[in-house]
Amino acid sequence: MKNLIFSLLMVPTIFGASLYASAADARILVSNKPLALIAAVTYPAEQIDILVPDGMSPHDYSLRPSDIGKIRQAEKVLWAGDHMEPYLVKFAKQATDKNLWLDATHLMEDLGWYNDDPHVWLSPKLAIEISKRIAEWNPVDVAQAKKDHQAFANQLTALVAESKETLAPLKKSGFFVFHQAYDYWFQAIDIKQLGAFTVSPERKPGARHIQKMRTQLQNHEVSCVLSEPQFSPALIDTVINGLPIKEGELDPLAGSSELTKTAYLEWLSDMTKSLAECLK
Ligand SMILES: [Zn+2]
Repeated sequence: MKNLIFSLLMVPTIFGASLYASAADARILVSNKPLALIAAVTYPAEQIDILVPDGMSPHDYSLRPSDIGKIRQAEKVLWAGDHMEPYLVKFAKQATDKNLWLDATHLMEDLGWYNDDPHVWLSPKLAIEISKRIAEWNPVDVAQAKKDHQAFANQLTALVAESKETLAPLKKSGFFVFHQAYDYWFQAIDIKQLGAFTVSPERKPGARHIQKMRTQLQNHEVSCVLSEPQFSPALIDTVINGLPIKEGELDPLAGSSELTKTAYLEWLSDMTKSLAECLK
C-alpha cells in the first residue's frame, strides 16, 4: 500500500519533470484576457496567467503588490504595449531576455498595421501573427502548436469573410459604440461606426459631444447603440432617453470567455452576431 501511494505521488512529478525544465519556464504571463485567448490557441490554457482580472479595464489598471511578484517571476510575457499598458513598460525594459516579452503593439508597428487604436487584440491579422509566435514558445509540442496555429489562421480568415458577408446588407444602418476600441475589427469586416461616446472609458465625454450624438439619434441617423458590460450604461440611457433606438452589447475585453483553443474565434463570432442583431 505504501508503495502504491508512493508511486501515485511520484508519477506526476517524474512525468512533469520530463516535460518541463521547471514550472516557471512553462508558464506564460499575458497582460489581458483577449490576448490570453490568442495565446490559448497554441499554448496550454493551464499554463497561462492573466494579469488584469475580468471586469477591470486595462486603461486605468494599477498593479497590485501580488502582480509585481508575478511579473518579476514571468519569463515569457505577452502584452499589449506601452499605449495600452504603460504600467508594464518598466518591467519590459528590465527583462533579462527581451525576446521572451512579446509586445503586440510593437509587432503591429513592425508589420506596418498600427493605426493609433491601442486595442490591438481586435485585429484578426495581428492575432494570427501573435499565435504564430506563441506557438514557438509551446513547452510541450511545438509541431502540434504550429498545426493549431495554422488551423486558427484558416478559421479566423473564414470567420472574417463570413462576418463581412453577414453585415454587408446591414451597413446602411448607423450605430454608436461605447468607446473607440473596435477600429481594427470593424476595418477587417468592412463596417463603420457613426460615433463613440468616449475615446477612452476613463474620460468623460464633453457636453457638446453628447449633444451631437443626441441630435444624430433624433435625426434617425442611428438605429442601434452598443454598450459594454464593464461600464455603467447610465450615460447611454441619458443620451437615448425616450428615442426608439435598439440597444446591444459588445465586450472588447472578452470578459465571459474561457481559455480554450477556439475561444477567440467564438468571441469575435459573437460580436458579429450582436452587431447583426442590433442593426437588423
Ligand atoms: Zn479600451
